[in-house]
Parts: sequence; structure tokens; C-alpha cells
Amino acid sequence: MPAAVADEGVILRRRNYQEADRILVILTRDHGKVSCLARGVRRPRARNAAGLDLLGRAQLLLIPGRNLYVLAQVRPLGRAERGDDPVRLACAALFAEAADGLLEEGHPDPALFELVGEHAERLLDISRPPRPGLVLALFRLAAEVGYLPALDRCMGCDRPLENRGGNFVPELGGVVQPPCVSPGGLGCEAATIRVLRALARGDFEMGRRLRWGQRLLSETEAVLVAHLRHRLDRRLLAADVLAQLVEPGVGA
Ligand SMILES: [Zn+2]
Repeated sequence: MPAAVADEGVILRRRNYQEADRILVILTRDHGKVSCLARGVRRPRARNAAGLDLLGRAQLLLIPGRNLYVLAQVRPLGRAERGDDPVRLACAALFAEAADGLLEEGHPDPALFELVGEHAERLLDISRPPRPGLVLALFRLAAEVGYLPALDRCMGCDRPLENRGGNFVPELGGVVQPPCVSPGGLGCEAATIRVLRALARGDFEMGRRLRWGQRLLSETEAVLVAHLRHRLDRRLLAADVLAQLVEPGVGA
């Protein structure tokens, strides 16, 4: 463990530890992903707990401990008001969980840090709808780390995808369109495939201007979650929470 770390960070994971502590996983600007012990932050009125919510952004001072850094100072940055909309908080938790899964310990990358920080800020901005923000955030992150699904060609016959519906098959990492058939997979209407392809080309402005209907949101979310789960071999617990909130009874 190197010397003390003074850096800006975004909180990706929080785990309760002992009576009043937490272990935090933080994406920092100049030191990459680091873990630290935050002592006493679960006590009522803990003075060092502000800025340590999921996706919270803070200026941090970490000092070397026995096995882990220990959080010595924290100064919250960015917005303090994140509201209490459970869907927004589930979207934030899912983005944090996906980022934690996609990024390895260490590996500083200031541009990637900015990308995560910018999307975290948008997701927590109570003036913006959270679910389109989540789709864009997951997509940007997956693109940045080279984990995008294949969205050019049918995974069954290698012909260019056409402007119609199809099935996203996580095991194939892409879309299968009729007349090719694939058992399982997630049904996607033409609009969903069109939007995913535009995002894959980097057209995020379109994603921000778009009017996201329920079906488009559900299908793009489902595709991204299934794809990331498969690539990461990881459950993404927050995705189950979000699914329960937006479509109670489905996938219970
Ligand atoms: Zn085909």
C-alpha cells in the first residue's frame, strides 16, 4: 500500500463492517479503484458520513491502515439533494454496481473517472428522469471499457441488421433477426434496436433528446443488464430491485 492518498472519488460500493464502520469501494481520479475502511460512519450524527452515499462525489484523504486504507477526511462535492425516489436510487445503485464490476482495482484513468462522475451527477439530478440516464450511463461505460454488444450484424447469419425487431441473445453477445431463430433471448422491437445501434455509433445526443417510452426503456434496460450480467458473470442485484419497482410481479 503506497503512502496517503489525497484524491477525488465517487463511491461505487458500501458494505457494513463491524458495529459502526463501512468498507467503501471508491473510484478515484488519480489512483483508480480503491477500497477503504470508513470508521464510525454508521453512527447516528456521524460527522464524516456526508458525501459517502452511493455515487456520492467527495474529496478524500485516505491513510494506510493494517490491510486497507482508512478514510481520514471527507469533503462532499457536487449536489447534496438526491431526493428519495426509489427508482432513482435503484438506478444509481445499478450504475454503481456495474461500474464496480467493470473496473478493476487500481488502473487510474482520469477520463473514465470524469465519465463516471458526470453520469453519476446526471442520475442523481432530481430534475432529470433517471431511467434514460441509466441506459445512457451503462452504455457509455460499457463502450468505454470495450464491453458493448455487437449491433451491426445478425449473430445467426452475419447479415447486416435491418430496421425491424429481433432477439437479443446474451450468450451470443448480440441480436438475432428473423428468419434466423434463437431460443431464449430478449425480444426487442425495431425502435429498441435502432436506438441501441445509434448509441453504439456514439450518438448520445440523440439519446438525450429522445422521448423514451416505457417499452423502449424496459427493452434497452433489459438488454444492457442481460449483456453485462453475462459478460461480468455477476448478478447485478440492483437490477432486480429496479425491475421490481418498475414492473412489480415481473421477474420476481
Ligand atoms: Zn440472421
